[in-house]
Amino acid sequence: MQCLSCGGAFEWAGNGQYARCTRCLALFNNQNGQLTPIQVQAPGGGNNPEFNAMFAQNLGFGPPPPGAGMPQQQQQQQQHNLAAGTFDMGGGQQLQLKINGKSPEGYLKDKASSMIWGWIIGAVIIGIMVLTAVGFGIYIYFQAKDPSAGVAGAKNAAAAQWDGKSTFDCKANDQVSLVGVKANVAGTAIKASGNCQLSLTGVDITAATGIEASGNAKVTMTGGSIKATTNSVVASAAAKVDCVGTTVTGKSKASGAAKVTGAN
Ligand SMILES: [Zn+2]
Repeated sequence: MQCLSCGGAFEWAGNGQYARCTRCLALFNNQNGQLTPIQVQAPGGGNNPEFNAMFAQNLGFGPPPPGAGMPQQQQQQQQHNLAAGTFDMGGGQQLQLKINGKSPEGYLKDKASSMIWGWIIGAVIIGIMVLTAVGFGIYIYFQAKDPSAGVAGAKNAAAAQWDGKSTFDCKANDQVSLVGVKANVAGTAIKASGNCQLSLTGVDITAATGIEASGNAKVTMTGGSIKATTNSVVASAAAKVDCVGTTVTGKSKASGAAKVTGAN
């Protein structure tokens, strides 16, 4: 059995009925192995080591062992250095606190440095993500600007500007995408020539001739409408015009190897 308040060794008196801690001098009443602390109150109140010794002597104990017990003042001066992991238990005993095998101070330092590393790694990852996003944005921007970037570039191309009041010319290697334009042109609304690739999405055309495609031009119209007083589509040479879901008013015309679909 050990002292309930400090873990010190006991000395016994009264045929084992009373226990006294040899370290802190706490007194206990023993009833079949159950220890109950005996609260000793000096007549004047408070903790009086001399009175305690007298009280203990009455229970059958000898004089307190030398060095045992802690006068109140000295107890208040005990140094508890938590950071270093030492905990002064009094009587020259020091309790060593360890967290994960390190003193609390070392543990906190390790913890702080791993947190800082966490922040640095986090910042680097965010930086890489931002750079990737910016780089991808620049790539798309140049792809959109570059007319020779291929068919994929054309599909990603930003919608071209057309005021819908004059003829829109798509020529040479132009790759153009027009979206949602409402055009009303006196003559021919759209001229596609050379190797031009033109994509029209949701474009409404009112004109004498809607689309005039020549050379190797390829025009794809999705949705929208063509209201033509002369011809909806005029295709010549190897031109190809496909209208998908487009409302077409006016006859189309194809010559040479040209092909027109979706418009009569
Ligand atoms: Zn004790």
